[in-house]
Amino acid sequence: MRKQKIVILGAGYGGLMTATRLQKTVGVNEAEIVLVNKNEYHYETTWLHEASAGTLHHDRVRYDIKTVIDQNKVDFIKDTAVEVKTDEKKVILENGEIDYDYLVVALGGESETFGIKGLKEYAFSIVNVNSARQIREHIEYQFATYSSEAEKKDERLTIVVGGAGFTGIEFLGELGNRIPELCREYDVDFKKVKVICVEAAPMVLPGFDPELVEYAVAHLEKKGVEFRIGTAIKECTTEGIIVGKGEEELEEIKAGTVIWAAGVRGNSLIEKSGIEAMRGRVKVQPDLRVPGHDNIFIIGDCSLIINEEINRPYPPTAQIAMQQGETCARNLVSLIRNKTELETFKPDIKGTVCSLGEDDAIGEAFGKKMVGSKASFMKKMVDNRALYMIGGPSLVLKKGKFNIF
Ligand code: FAD
Ligand code: NAD
Repeated sequence: MRKQKIVILGAGYGGLMTATRLQKTVGVNEAEIVLVNKNEYHYETTWLHEASAGTLHHDRVRYDIKTVIDQNKVDFIKDTAVEVKTDEKKVILENGEIDYDYLVVALGGESETFGIKGLKEYAFSIVNVNSARQIREHIEYQFATYSSEAEKKDERLTIVVGGAGFTGIEFLGELGNRIPELCREYDVDFKKVKVICVEAAPMVLPGFDPELVEYAVAHLEKKGVEFRIGTAIKECTTEGIIVGKGEEELEEIKAGTVIWAAGVRGNSLIEKSGIEAMRGRVKVQPDLRVPGHDNIFIIGDCSLIINEEINRPYPPTAQIAMQQGETCARNLVSLIRNKTELETFKPDIKGTVCSLGEDDAIGEAFGKKMVGSKASFMKKMVDNRALYMIGGPSLVLKKGKFNIF
């Protein structure tokens, strides 16, 4: 009998979790497993704010995919998926094509700019290793240029962060540590540097515990961050941004660096492939399959699942992507073994911890609130746990965060 072919697109949290769980369960004669990813490496998306600020080298946030897959069981293809031809059960890659019996789409998120003028052209987003490296180098370039130019342009040293969601706040936390270093390195007066966070909602970290938010804001303000809440970015230009408060007059903020951390969406390949989605996110069935496509699973940031308690979608997180990977792998094993009953995915939210730089954080975990070094310790444990779940103790030893005291 012909072996069934499982193709996994994306080697992020969801895709690697699926592949590593399948390789443990599926016999070589049971199914062919193929993993496709655009790079030879996996990167920890949840650490990209550190690489972007320059507090952690980008090589620390990535590792070779081949070190965590069993190559006797999983074929790795380094390529970029361009489109899924669902009728033909085929994926078009940049350098070829690949057919499948079962497909897992785990391609992660993309930045969503909601059509705001100039953002795509002039703002940076924290989305992958390349963008993180570019942000770090751009900020350094601004400091280096400021030091050497005869007529100083102070706005070079203004960094605007759009969005005070978790990404924006974690990045600001890293900048709080990095800017004093940059000032020393490039002989720049700290007082000349401005870091402005612009948030459209009336509060920082909308929806999060107000006491923890207050702690985070006080910590970041102490490090020099200026918050402009209830203020939306309306446009980005070569000079900076235009913001507005409600219907009031628009205001220009000149800035040498604009980071857009105010929107994520699913991968645009989804729409290109004719799969019904909302901003690249597909409302999947409880077993994680796509309605009308019984052989396609979508997990991670490309999937949308509803929290029935509040009737709103769960936020896209690594925590959920990894749990979905486990369920998806079990459901695939059932399908290739001709079992019809599939498992329902139920997220098990253990909490949320938001770092505020190297040694501070806020969080709620296991029903408890925490701040400071305790929360920071917890955040590093969460980061190490993700490594452990995918690559076991050897990956933790190689890539883990041990600067915990
Ligand atoms: P990813 O892990 O992003 O992986 C997608 C993979 O697909 C990547 O390897 C990519 O290279 C590959 N790929 C993309 N397009 C293609 C293509 N066309 N062809 C081939 N390969 C492709 N969540 C938490 O739970 N906790 C946190 O602390 C946390 N911190 C975060 C910090 C930051 C700065 C950011 C940006 C996000 C954070 N998140 C956090 C959210 C979390 O990172 C995402 O929800 C998670 O990465 C989604 O996992 P995924 O498997 O869907 O995609
Ligand atoms: P987000 O969508 O959660 O937050 C974006 C923020 O930008 C919101 O506060 C929104 O009000 C604001 N905004 C939107 N339009 C704006 C505009 N025009 N001008 C100014 N502000 C605007 O996005 P995110 O922070 O990138 O998070 C993405 C996902 O990743 C979430 O699910 C989040 O939970 C997850 N994440 C988790 C962690 C963590 O657990 N530590 C860290 C980072 C990201």
